[in-house]
Amino acid sequence: MTPSTPEQALTELRAGNHRFVSGAPQHPNQDAGHRAAVAVGQHPFAVIVGCSDSRLAAEIIFDRGLGDLFVVRTAGHTAGPEVLGSVEYAVTVLGTPLVVVLGHDSCGAVQAAREGVRTGAAPVGHLGAVVDAVSPSLLRAARQGVDDLDGIIDVHIAQTVETLLARSAVLAERVAGGRCTVVGMSYRLAGGEVRTVAQSPAPLPAPAAPADPALAG
Ligand SMILES: [Zn+2]
Repeated sequence: MTPSTPEQALTELRAGNHRFVSGAPQHPNQDAGHRAAVAVGQHPFAVIVGCSDSRLAAEIIFDRGLGDLFVVRTAGHTAGPEVLGSVEYAVTVLGTPLVVVLGHDSCGAVQAAREGVRTGAAPVGHLGAVVDAVSPSLLRAARQGVDDLDGIIDVHIAQTVETLLARSAVLAERVAGGRCTVVGMSYRLAGGEVRTVAQSPAPLPAPAAPADPALAG
């Protein structure tokens, strides 16, 4: 069944990533019957705003198939107008309950931005737009005293989550109303696992463990 709440969608994505990591993918929804079934309409349960890196294919790392994920990818998972419009289309027209910002270790876009800031050299052509979009995250990381690449990448993922919400009133309204959740995840290229680095709204705290009867009296 297609997940219809943010919590169900997140559970489904995490389960798929676990199958992928453990080497037991099911490749769901990739057969001819499903292809025909979704031709008449799509109801993706998650929007993925991911980096374009060739090793970060969303349907593979979350073990999903046709019609499951609405994927928007740019180098460095930037949040420009076309990306925002695509996200808004999915959450409003398609009713998708989850938006995931998907970054990864050793991200070349973040490395390029870092190099540009360090050397002051202007990037060639439109690569400058990518560097400009990532640069605010470098400043934020510097303010937080974070200077290792993977730490900066985590900051950039969290920054992208905040930028999506700050720039899209439509998305922020859905999140405030409990109809959508935005999660930032970092993927490890070698291990294949995703780790949550940001979430809006913040997840509820785990319920307190029941008191140990042995200690009760
Ligand atoms: Zn990347």
